[in-house]
Amino acid sequence: MGGIIKLLPDHIANQIAAGEVIQRPSSVVKELVENSIDAGATKIDIIIKDAGRTLIQIIDNGNGMSMFDAEMCFERHATSKLKDAQDLFKLTTKGFRGEALASIAAISQVTLRTCQKDDKLGTRIEIEGSDIRKNEPEVCPVGTSLEIKNLFFNVPARRNFLKSDSVEFKHILHEFERIALPHHEVQLSLHHNGESIYQLNPSNLRKRIVDLNNRNYNDKLVPVDETTEIVGIQGFVVKPEAARKSRGEQFLFVNNRYFRDNYLNNAVQKAFDQLLQPGTFPSYYLFLTVDPGRIDVNVHPTKTEIKFEEERLIYSIIRTAVKQALGKFNIMPTIDFEQEHSFDLPYSHKKAEIRQPEIQINKNYNPFDTNIPKPSSGVKFEKSNAISNAGFNQEKAASWENFYSIEDETEVDTETINLEFESVEHKNFLVAGNFLLTNAKSGLMSIQYRRAYERIVYDELMGQFITSPIASQGMLFPYEWEMKKDEKTIWESNALLLKQLGLVWEFEKENMTLSSIPSILPEDGIPAFIQMLLEQMMMEQIDKGEIAHHFVLSLSKAASMKKKLILSNENASDLVQSLFGCKEHVYSPSGKLILKTITFEQLEN
Ligand code: ADP
Ligand code: MG
Repeated sequence: MGGIIKLLPDHIANQIAAGEVIQRPSSVVKELVENSIDAGATKIDIIIKDAGRTLIQIIDNGNGMSMFDAEMCFERHATSKLKDAQDLFKLTTKGFRGEALASIAAISQVTLRTCQKDDKLGTRIEIEGSDIRKNEPEVCPVGTSLEIKNLFFNVPARRNFLKSDSVEFKHILHEFERIALPHHEVQLSLHHNGESIYQLNPSNLRKRIVDLNNRNYNDKLVPVDETTEIVGIQGFVVKPEAARKSRGEQFLFVNNRYFRDNYLNNAVQKAFDQLLQPGTFPSYYLFLTVDPGRIDVNVHPTKTEIKFEEERLIYSIIRTAVKQALGKFNIMPTIDFEQEHSFDLPYSHKKAEIRQPEIQINKNYNPFDTNIPKPSSGVKFEKSNAISNAGFNQEKAASWENFYSIEDETEVDTETINLEFESVEHKNFLVAGNFLLTNAKSGLMSIQYRRAYERIVYDELMGQFITSPIASQGMLFPYEWEMKKDEKTIWESNALLLKQLGLVWEFEKENMTLSSIPSILPEDGIPAFIQMLLEQMMMEQIDKGEIAHHFVLSLSKAASMKKKLILSNENASDLVQSLFGCKEHVYSPSGKLILKTITFEQLEN
């Protein structure tokens, strides 16, 4: 008996494949322009009629194709960009599936004209529904021109599914922008129904963004530029005042490829927290650079979704980079009011040597301005004095004031903590319990030194943590810890970050043996530390992007529990000196008050 299974004829297979790659006219534009860029074109003209239904023509001055390749390029899985499977992990080109031209040719009428640099004659091919109608030499300019007529002419279901011309053309415009931005050095034009829509000259990114929007845009762009070992982030964010009512202008690229990722888009959004009017969205043009081996662009056929290996770290880095960019340009209060929620990427930590902390005191800085309502308990502390620095309006300020609350029931003096600590070296400190007491201008200053230590360690580690693992130290006697099954699973799923923290471990079933710990952690702090880590990982409501912050916080806390933290006066003065070297020295990273002045008047009473 004969089998009933048959191979699909090529043109049917191509049509089916086309359904995945070519959803609408804009997909054709995207695929063809990407091919032109891959072919090294420096000038690309795009001519559209009827939102691409009747004509899409792309003319480039790239490398062109040989006579042989001109025919070959319409075969399915025909690509010049991927030679073996290994190449998939170091892709630098846009295409690699070899599906676009085969798909397009299956569902439209195509005319290809192409010529290579040293050839006298080029090639002209006409193909319709995968059927080659004409293939002849022709004199044509160096480069490639592809004319796509009557898209979906043989797939009525698809054709009927298309939206109005204005909607379809909007899609084309979006694709155009997604290519024009990363390839600002390429000259690009777009025509629709005889009308010139864009004429873009080669330029830098800033100019290209302005060209795609309007001239006023130039003042609204804030540069972002951060390079770490894991990811580079370059580009621009748009000042919060120019935020839009829709998410339109949000562009993320990785290695110059546009992608969408709600998680990482959220990282940018978060960096704008408190700066936007409700219901508005930030605009941004951010370009990530990642080792191509560490991303998977192959997860979606149209390649707008990308999987990152180090997603969580990247989240935090993006968020910090954007936040710092906004801060640097005085869009944000100069003092980071939300420090405990973000990585603080000191500008120096990447290349520069570690600096002795300097004491920087802003005499005008009064965190306890009497205008600000008294803290109420239960809400996280966020520094709010900076409102005035940023020139925010009253309405904004009011909403920020809610953040000015601390967990401590301690009532903070409205009297200035006037930090007369220019010279801390020769001060005497009295150690009592967890407190250091010393004289201050207006009375007696008490410093909760464990909290101070927590702040110092946190600030130092957070900067380092992003780019390199925290210094770690092997133990003479490995530490054993028995986990529950779910704890082990969650531990392993955070392995990358945990290693970054300086932990080295092995599992035997649910039994974990720790062989190295962060050097800052005293051995007797291990149980508390692991317990804190586990609790945080198990907490569902914790924002994934914040986990790094929580890890470092736990480490700082555990480190500050060290039994003999203060051993001498010198020791104490070093600690206080480092504390005043921290940008935030009044509150610990977990929001607890570190220091307080008891005034002479209060002492008197
Ligand atoms: P892919 O881009 O995934 O390789 P395509 O179907 O888009 O697959 O293109 C197939 C091949 O045709 C490409 O690999 C390239 O060699 C060639 N090609 C397509 N467009 C152009 C162009 N504009 N200029 C030069 N070569 C091209
Ligand atoms: Mg392609």
